[in-house]
Amino acid sequence: MEFKEIEKRIQQFYPGAVAGDEAVEKYLSKLQKEHQVDLTKVLFATSICSDDANFSADFSKVLSRPFVMGGLGGLPYTGFTGMVAYAHHIPDGGDAFIFYGPHIGINEEGELGRMRRIGQSADSNSCGALMLALDRLITEEDEEVYVPMASEVDYQQILLERSLMPFKHDIVNSAFPKKAITDKTYDIIHKLLHKYVAMAKNEFHCQRIIFLGGVIINTDPNHQDYIDIRNFEVLNVSDIKAVKSVDMTHMKAFKEL
Ligand SMILES: [Zn+2]
Repeated sequence: MEFKEIEKRIQQFYPGAVAGDEAVEKYLSKLQKEHQVDLTKVLFATSICSDDANFSADFSKVLSRPFVMGGLGGLPYTGFTGMVAYAHHIPDGGDAFIFYGPHIGINEEGELGRMRRIGQSADSNSCGALMLALDRLITEEDEEVYVPMASEVDYQQILLERSLMPFKHDIVNSAFPKKAITDKTYDIIHKLLHKYVAMAKNEFHCQRIIFLGGVIINTDPNHQDYIDIRNFEVLNVSDIKAVKSVDMTHMKAFKEL
């Protein structure tokens, strides 16, 4: 497929998507020029899916040592403890930089949720975990409603599905359910990271936390990945409202149990 053709197909679904290299260059130069960030003192973290397809879309080529928060679907499974550990590892006088988001493939035919992987002759699902979750959310009328049950042998997938369950109706009834489940996953990752950062606020001894979030779009091996950036923010740690864990004994309903 020609370069322009793949770009056209991607932009039908993601009009703002740009090539991965372009995004990396743009945001790193923004950080250096507009925010005077010293990249040698940045501790890079990722909350993206474990899928090997995402390697080229992140900033690892430029920034070393990512602290890996993500797992299947890109959710930050390392949670509050992981965020505290990350906060403690930032170099003195440095900044935090968290890159996050789900991913979705697009194949030669322009079909979303599918991709041709390196060394393979057939397409497969991308994100596989999200497409599996979608398959399980869609139940036929004569089928029992699927309920993701906690499982020690598959806890990331189950937690991913449980996080998506409240949005099942919107996802399944969307014109493009594969896109909808990916977009919803982006929102979930975004919210969780901001929540963990707020909970861990006092553990950050740096001044700034940089967030860069988007949907990674995987193409075939002959093209680079694209990214639809959804959020770029440079937060001053002092401006973040700390969140304490909720003590429900203060709730009226609790007192009236
Ligand atoms: Zn994935």
